[in-house]
Amino acid sequence: MNTDLQDYSHKRFNILTGEWVLVSPHRAKRPWQGQNESVSNEVRPTHDPNCYLCAGNTRINGEVNPDYKDVFVFTNDFAALQSNSKTFALNNGLFKAESETGICKVICFSPDHSKSLADMGVDAINKVVKVWQEEYQLLGANETINNVQIFENKGAVMGCSNPHPHGQIWSQSTIPNEVEKKDNQQKTYYSKNKSSLLGDYLKQELEAKERIIFENDDFVVLIPFWAIWPFEAMIAPKKQYKDITQISEKESLAYAEAISVLTKVYDALFDCSFPYSSGIHQAPTNGEDNNHWHWHMGFYPPLLRSATVKKFMVGYEMFGTPQRDITAEQAAQRLRDLVK
Ligand SMILES: [Zn+2]
Repeated sequence: MNTDLQDYSHKRFNILTGEWVLVSPHRAKRPWQGQNESVSNEVRPTHDPNCYLCAGNTRINGEVNPDYKDVFVFTNDFAALQSNSKTFALNNGLFKAESETGICKVICFSPDHSKSLADMGVDAINKVVKVWQEEYQLLGANETINNVQIFENKGAVMGCSNPHPHGQIWSQSTIPNEVEKKDNQQKTYYSKNKSSLLGDYLKQELEAKERIIFENDDFVVLIPFWAIWPFEAMIAPKKQYKDITQISEKESLAYAEAISVLTKVYDALFDCSFPYSSGIHQAPTNGEDNNHWHWHMGFYPPLLRSATVKKFMVGYEMFGTPQRDITAEQAAQRLRDLVK
């Protein structure tokens, strides 16, 4: 292990976005005098009559949810993007705007209001993976949809308004910022080296072993070298696939296992239902070959040192560059020790 990285301030390069993160390992021991979040230890019922995502309940637009048994998808009643929106462009001097259309969906992971992915079995998570695959294919086949962003916001601290286990898909006509950065970086590397940027990175990580949390035959769970959030993690297939529809049934189960292991160690870390935003970055559905893409899933959890202390992206991070104290290696060690 390079001890300089554990002792001295430095910056690390994110190969996927082309951006830097500042790391300050010497600050990890400073006392905390900031804000504490409240922890909710309330035990939730398996069905909540007031939850708009529970089976059989009526949503605000009057639609009644079916009596679903595993995964349930519907078009978001309050979508950020609309498919029938007006097409226009504004080019007025330095004022530039373009219309954006899309389709937003909600995916309930389970009819059980009390559960999260961490409480679900691998087979149940695999059913969610199946729906992600179907939706990526279905939405991506739509000519007006050029990117399908699958994500989950979990926990009130992440601004999630409903504790029912669910995620979202925002699909749209243009490519969003984060995907575009990764598209550019992977494309440049692939055209120069004729190999997958992330695939080559994973090989190096599997040799170094310092940031690996868990691996099975087909997937790796690790803290990226350039992680920003204290316990940020990535799940990636060892083989290069450009999107989640390309994995086999065996690999799909291995992916579900990776999600299960990671979400369980997250919950064990601070003995709480661990909040995070997670998302799948995969090839845009823009009709190009996208052979440079290697799909992966990121988890960005905000908790820093306990269930009640959250990391804020403020000050220097807003005006300069993201920064972290605990190193990626230390974070990986802590999570790895919790894998059962
Ligand atoms: Zn519910």
